[in-house]
Amino acid sequence: MKIHEYQGKELLKQFGVPVPRGFACFSVDEAVKAAETLGGKVWVVKAQIHAGGRGKGGGVKVAKSMDEVRTYAGQILGMQLKTHQTGPEGQKVNRLLVEEGADIRKEYYVAALTDRATQKVAMMASSEGGMDIEEVAHKTPEKILKVFVDPLVGLTDAQANELARGIGVPEGSLAQAVDTLKKLYTCYMETDASLAEINPMILEGNGGIRAIDAKFNFDSNALYRHPEIVAYRDLDEEDADEIEASKFDLAYISLDGNIGCLVNGAGLAMATMDTIKLFGAEPANFLDVGGGATTEKVTEAFKIMLKNSKVKGILVNIFGGIMKCDTIAAGVVAAAKETHLSVPLVVRMKGTNEDLGKQILKDSGLPIISADTMAEAATKIVAAVN
Ligand code: GDP
Ligand code: MN
Repeated sequence: MKIHEYQGKELLKQFGVPVPRGFACFSVDEAVKAAETLGGKVWVVKAQIHAGGRGKGGGVKVAKSMDEVRTYAGQILGMQLKTHQTGPEGQKVNRLLVEEGADIRKEYYVAALTDRATQKVAMMASSEGGMDIEEVAHKTPEKILKVFVDPLVGLTDAQANELARGIGVPEGSLAQAVDTLKKLYTCYMETDASLAEINPMILEGNGGIRAIDAKFNFDSNALYRHPEIVAYRDLDEEDADEIEASKFDLAYISLDGNIGCLVNGAGLAMATMDTIKLFGAEPANFLDVGGGATTEKVTEAFKIMLKNSKVKGILVNIFGGIMKCDTIAAGVVAAAKETHLSVPLVVRMKGTNEDLGKQILKDSGLPIISADTMAEAATKIVAAVN
């Protein structure tokens, strides 16, 4: 689960990381009022969406007068902000963050994240802050420093020092940078985040260290013990189909292709997507109906897949274990009828009551294409779609 920058900054602040003063705003008037309350001469008006790269897309503006605050707030609020992370259609801006302007001498990148390769928490830092970190990783990987944290010890002073020195924090600001890194690590651990990123962490004109952006990702499996983080959830920022699917306990992720897949088991669902790609097409979604799929669940799954106008065919791939093939077959038939299915449907079923399941599909009178192997199923759906 992701949250907004202003929410991320609230968390950072709770853990002692210095952040600018600011207010979340939902209207232009609120934005102006926020700037007046903050006082000072420079303010930043920032679009709040669950995507990075807002600066380049015109979603972050530095205002030097109240008139500019009003103008920028008016421009950004309601805009369809396009960044490299939003996709071509962009994301509508419904919230702003208005905060005091920062005096930036240097921008750094720092983050805590789960490193799958080492199965450890990695603390990363770079002198190339403010930029797209993927680009830095690609072009100048030597400019990204990493240390791996022993969970029993935590981020040590020595490690935090190594990072802070390594990215060129000046001597007089080292202690504060080390302190910020350690607090970031604690914040990451205690909130069960999978990513806690500050880009940029800045060196101010007076030598201070401050977080002026905050990006968090949380492990959804741990949300049950973090009601305070669940409260930050903004459904406007999430995929409507994924929200709908979660109501029926379906693990669904929207993708860009044109072949809808309905599978039981996450591993089989991944393998099915790989097979579709291997045969030259692209999956429209990831969908794991789980072990206890009922007719109702399968019907809902079909409805959600078919809502996507890009879907030109559906591949059902079921391993009948605890879940029996005839149950799924009955569900598929009912769903196809209820949704007046008009795109080709290929079904592959293996396992318990396989023959019974196939018979149900055959007897339905529906134009369901049957397949035995995954290769055959993929070949058939790709052919039907093309
Ligand atoms: P992102 O583009 O979505 O990552 O948004 P950021 O919050 O990182 O802002 C993008 C860039 O705007 C930063 O790297 C800074 O260069 C600039 N910026 C953000 N806040 C301020 C500020 O208070 N003052 C100034 N001068 N620049 C800022
Ligand atoms: Mn940023």
